Amino acid sequence: MATAAAGPLLGCAATGGLQPSGVRRIAVLGAGFAGVSVAWHLLQHTTSSAPICVELFDEVGVGGGASGASGGLLHPYNPKGKLLWKGAEGWNAALKLLSVAGTACSDTSTTGEFGSTIAPLAWKRGILRLAKQQKHALDFQKNVNNAASDESKIACLGGPAARELVPGLEIPAEGLALYIPQAINVHPQRYLKALWLACELFSRKASTTDCPGTQAVLRNYRVGSLTELKGSYEAVVVCLGAQAMLLPELVDKLPLTSCRGVVAQLQAPRGLRNVYDSQAPNLLFGTWVAVQGERDLLLGATKDWGSMNASPNVDNTEATSALEKLMDETAPFYPSIKKWKVKGWQAGLRAMPPRSSLGSLPLAGCIDELVRSSQLGGYSEQIKNTASTKWWLFGGLGSRGLIHHGWLGDQVAKAVIYRNESLLPQILKQW
Ligand SMILES: Cc1cc2nc3c(=O)[nH]c(=O)nc-3n(C[C@H](O)[C@H](O)[C@H](O)COP(=O)(O)OP(=O)(O)OC[C@H]3O[C@@H](n4cnc5c(N)ncnc54)[C@H](O)[C@@H]3O)c2cc1C
Repeated sequence: MATAAAGPLLGCAATGGLQPSGVRRIAVLGAGFAGVSVAWHLLQHTTSSAPICVELFDEVGVGGGASGASGGLLHPYNPKGKLLWKGAEGWNAALKLLSVAGTACSDTSTTGEFGSTIAPLAWKRGILRLAKQQKHALDFQKNVNNAASDESKIACLGGPAARELVPGLEIPAEGLALYIPQAINVHPQRYLKALWLACELFSRKASTTDCPGTQAVLRNYRVGSLTELKGSYEAVVVCLGAQAMLLPELVDKLPLTSCRGVVAQLQAPRGLRNVYDSQAPNLLFGTWVAVQGERDLLLGATKDWGSMNASPNVDNTEATSALEKLMDETAPFYPSIKKWKVKGWQAGLRAMPPRSSLGSLPLAGCIDELVRSSQLGGYSEQIKNTASTKWWLFGGLGSRGLIHHGWLGDQVAKAVIYRNESLLPQILKQW
């Protein structure tokens, strides 16, 4: 995977700064679900007369933030079993991106990137969401009944049917679970690396055929402020997750709350019988179990509201407290979880958006006004001088990065390319 460690002011990589005229140079900040999706969709607009050069900035690398630490659960329903806002569009777009990523990593010319055997990017196991209270069960029932039966992909299962799907599950006979058979769980790190590889392959092909100048460059670089990028790009798209709130130009201007989550990587010890059944669905019930192979599970996640600790590292104190919480919530439903061994930890910071009547919607739109009104000493004048750069934000994906990243990433890319904010749903401009 090609990376460029240099700062932002160099030109698009291999051209050494000299670019064919008409190249549209766009910076995408953050290589999580949002940023890599936007990068892919921007590249799809490359043309021979206006080739696109995307520079993707990330201080850690692809999947280094919340996306890489996530459980990778993908489905289009809210906790009550109701289709999310743009859930169908989000679902279809996410499946397309998974297919793009899958094609890239199975390309024979790239086996070096992923090793000789290609590990799966995703598993289609479905999800079983357990009703913890009678109220949840009623919601499930209502939404399953309301969904048109011929289109509905969800079902309500009683205790015995749920136990059949997940042997060892503790759910009373009169209990109820929502079953989403088409749900997928993604291996987020592999998926994102493969999607970025798809960007690189696409740009290489386009630049050697009819769109010379097309490029996808990864820059391992920490962006300290938007001012650093002044004048270098026609557009800058901020996809920094919760850390967008730390940019000097955006401090205290975004309606986001941060929430750190810690996830245990569990492995079945040798000799453990009745390990998680090879066809059994993932589980959701406050905490969640995401299956990542025959003997590997992710168990997540804790909620530390207001934390600004975005580190993927989990120290011993945090691990001990997280394990206690996760086990306390999970063992009553799935007692054999206690026999699994902790293999490692992962953690990330979610950027939680405000709740609206349509649920928790991400943030997307043009932030020119926010950036230019920044009164921080010296910034405003410099930024005013870069009036040709347009500034965009795509963030606040909350706990649902996967369902939102594909369709909205596409919409954001269109708005950036046509320099037209009205191509984005107005409701997402929540600042
Ligand atoms: C524990 C946990 C479990 C989750 N499980 C799921 C799940 O199962 N399904 C689901 O759909 N969603 C899940 N989510 C939510 C999902 O992870 C987020 O919605 C999603 O990752 C947000 O993507 P993003 O691209 O906006 O942000 P991020 O993935 O956080 O990406 C931001 C990137 O910006 C980089 N960055 C930050 N600041 C700078 C800077 N100044 N300069 C350069 N680079 C910078 C970071 O390194 C990072 O790579 C989970 C989240 C957590 C924390």
